[in-house]
Amino acid sequence: MNNRIKKQTILSFLIIATVLSSCSKSNNVSSTTDAVVIEVNPAYFLQTGLAESITKVSKTLSNGSTVECYKIVSNNTPTDHVQGPWCPTNINDGIDKGGVWFEGGKLYDVDGPFIKNLATFYANTTWKLYNSATGEINVTSTKEACQAAARPDVDPLYKNYCVECLPSYFPGIKKTYYIPVKPIKGTTTTAIMGMGTIIGIAFNGINFDPPAPTHAILGAYTLAPMDDAGGHVNGVAGYHYHAATGKSTKVAQADGHAGMIGYAMDGYGIFERLDEAGKESTDLDASRGHYDSTRGYHYHVAYAGTNSFINSFRGIPGSFSVTL
Ligand SMILES: [Zn+2]
Ligand SMILES: [Zn+2]
Repeated sequence: MNNRIKKQTILSFLIIATVLSSCSKSNNVSSTTDAVVIEVNPAYFLQTGLAESITKVSKTLSNGSTVECYKIVSNNTPTDHVQGPWCPTNINDGIDKGGVWFEGGKLYDVDGPFIKNLATFYANTTWKLYNSATGEINVTSTKEACQAAARPDVDPLYKNYCVECLPSYFPGIKKTYYIPVKPIKGTTTTAIMGMGTIIGIAFNGINFDPPAPTHAILGAYTLAPMDDAGGHVNGVAGYHYHAATGKSTKVAQADGHAGMIGYAMDGYGIFERLDEAGKESTDLDASRGHYDSTRGYHYHVAYAGTNSFINSFRGIPGSFSVTL
């Protein structure tokens, strides 16, 4: 979960405002040398995820150039998979009652036994999220509790809690993405700067978020699981993804290449990690992208356990904002 306190919320909106005005950090443009540059295809987005029709608008990017961007307004409710569950409620609960957590580059099912075993898992006896007598797990159960538990200086009341915010706590969220219709290669890559830098959009309208600040979460002896689709909810961005687990809509490729799952904010396509034969590309650059003549330049997401999708933007990113 990002963004724990009001102060940080304000900071986050300042960052977003900065992103909106300057469209991310400055970066000079060079003409692309790619023989094939694929435009964003608005038809790939699920209509049910959109708050309004996708339109084309002129936007000035960070390099000062004014280009056509698609304006995509999402109602932030996935219609291609369920949201949750996140926290199991009893240490005997099975994997169907909880979500997932990443640690050390691996993805773990958060079931009852996982919660019970946390002191061993993290080699720290302070961890104890459950009542020994009843097996009941401490789970935030109100909007106030999830927000108090999700801030960096965790309310002491919520130490040793499994933290979950329900989508119903934050109704009516809209996310607006401006993505260059035709990706423009930058002279250098643009770093993913954390809070305020959104990585991209899935075809259901949910955003791919920067890495979750797991150290802050764990430092407070809280766990903020993702659901099986790799998403969870906070009060700043509503439901958002930290991992691509194959649950959201994908566009299959005729040649056996990995399926497409969305677009990065620079307009390049984002694809699954593995192709249909279960193989990962071996020629990915530092951003996790490569080029072919069918798809142009595009990215492949990292393994879900890494708490990341791509490493940087090759193109000039558009901008993003959230309306609560
Ligand atoms: Zn998060
Ligand atoms: Zn590829």
